[in-house]
Amino acid sequence: MKRRDFIQKAGVGSLAAGGTLLAPNVANAGAQFKWKMVTAWPKNFPGLGTNANLLAKLITEMSGGRIKVKVYGAKELVPAFEVFDAVSSGVAEMGHSGAYYWKGKAPATQFFSAVPFGLTAQEMNAWLYYGGGMELWRELYKPFGIIPTATGNSGVQMAGWFNREIKSIDDLKGLKMRIPGLGGEVLRRAGGTTVDMPGGELFTSLQSGALDATEWVGPYNDLAFGFHKVAKYYYYPGWHEPGSTMEALINEKAFNALPKDLQVIVLTACKAANMDMISEYTARNNQALDTLINKHKVKVLPLPDDVLKTLKQLSEEVVLELAAKDALSKKVYESVTQFRTQVTKWGSISEQAFLRARSL
Ligand code: CA
Repeated sequence: MKRRDFIQKAGVGSLAAGGTLLAPNVANAGAQFKWKMVTAWPKNFPGLGTNANLLAKLITEMSGGRIKVKVYGAKELVPAFEVFDAVSSGVAEMGHSGAYYWKGKAPATQFFSAVPFGLTAQEMNAWLYYGGGMELWRELYKPFGIIPTATGNSGVQMAGWFNREIKSIDDLKGLKMRIPGLGGEVLRRAGGTTVDMPGGELFTSLQSGALDATEWVGPYNDLAFGFHKVAKYYYYPGWHEPGSTMEALINEKAFNALPKDLQVIVLTACKAANMDMISEYTARNNQALDTLINKHKVKVLPLPDDVLKTLKQLSEEVVLELAAKDALSKKVYESVTQFRTQVTKWGSISEQAFLRARSL
């Protein structure tokens, strides 16, 4: 009875809004779906793994158990870097990862996780939901049979952990650093060497000296990995990841097999998980930063302005070259660049002006 009321109400709402009445897919209405969600993170990893858990729980509970989603940590079903293929082929119905891992599939994927000196979390969500970004993302993943959407944002990250001080751009020369995506290309142009590896392997690589530096996320996640035990200096700001988006990948066929109400539940759960992560990170990074500084005596340092200026110049070159790779990359670049110009104008007299005023 309750469910019928809900459908009637939803129907009335749609009509009142001038839309067409959505007929529930009656044939599938009572069907049960068992979905697997593969992730690029260690199981239950704070922030990232737990966001995947939250998303699975939301979908399962909002659907009254009609979709049961089981979460697999990296390597449990497939390795971290095979999440995209697993969802594309239908080995798993869902994935939870970061789009920049898939630059080998299509260069433009990198625009949907993090662009050096690009959009902040708030700006990224604005571009995705109201600036045309989401439509472009779907167009990009369509050939792979995947529907992407945002499921979390880390906010501004840290520049990373270094075993040497960075006083000038020359200190980046010869540096072996784990830094994925476009930021990695920027570091290479600054003379560094980059290594791509999943989060779970970073601690031992820093410890053994296979890496001189690594970026990961921010205090909350980095403390959990214990990087303070194997690197001395913790630099900010995360110029390379100003507002990294986590992605939910949904196998298109699996999604299309759902009745309409469950489709809405899946996408709405992703939106709720997206909001949850930035709230959690904003709250928990503070506590973790305090622990790192006061308990573990970590040296938290700003990258010098001239280093940041050089990295910004190199970033602009790298992003422009990415835009030239194919037609879709160009289209995404133009959309996001135009959006950044607009949002910067508004931001300078809203967020930026306010934060300045608050600190006077
Ligand atoms: Ca990162």
